[in-house]
Amino acid sequence: MTATLTERGTHREQRGHVARLHAELTRYGLVTWTSGNVSERVPGEDLFLIKGSGVSYDELSWEGVTVCDLDGGVVDGACKPSSDTDAHAFVYRSMPEVAGQVHTHSPYATAWAARAEEIPCVLTAMADEFGGPIPVGPFALIGDDSIGRGIVATLRGSRSPAVLMRNHGVFTVGPSARAAVKAAVMAEDVARTVHLSRQLGEPVPIAQEHVDALYARYQNVYGQ
Ligand SMILES: [Zn+2]
Repeated sequence: MTATLTERGTHREQRGHVARLHAELTRYGLVTWTSGNVSERVPGEDLFLIKGSGVSYDELSWEGVTVCDLDGGVVDGACKPSSDTDAHAFVYRSMPEVAGQVHTHSPYATAWAARAEEIPCVLTAMADEFGGPIPVGPFALIGDDSIGRGIVATLRGSRSPAVLMRNHGVFTVGPSARAAVKAAVMAEDVARTVHLSRQLGEPVPIAQEHVDALYARYQNVYGQ
């Protein structure tokens, strides 16, 4: 907390929506203690909403979500924003198509990140949601925009809405916060299944033409 933070209570409805989406992270076991966060752009304004730093998931209401400008500066809110705010801000500035982001240290996906190994596309659900492997991003220190630069460098031009930042965890993007939450849930699910498969032997890859067909069908039929 700093003395400059003020709470005017703007954007309450969307802050409530973002607060409630955090319950999906605990429901699917993607986060521990206060780690992890969801953010979403404010439509029509150069602002986004993000979880307050250190706010408990059980206590998270609209008041625990902070309104920031696209440089990560606080515009409204009683809580200091997440320590990942600069990364989210960099992604919103760099990728106009992104309107929602999620960050977790979900255990199976982060285990792949710790080994800096992409998750190979060996499940039809991966072809559907990620359009190929889930890529690995560079090692980056927390505290400036280097995480954001790593996310953008990895995801720009990629079909995958998820990146495994090396030695860190999962960052996902989407056309809404809800879509980014879904990508975070799916990333952990496929990380676990491919890990289990690896214990039994070598998973069988899906031919690229089949990956392309699955992805095209899923995005056209189920895409927004
Ligand atoms: Zn983190």
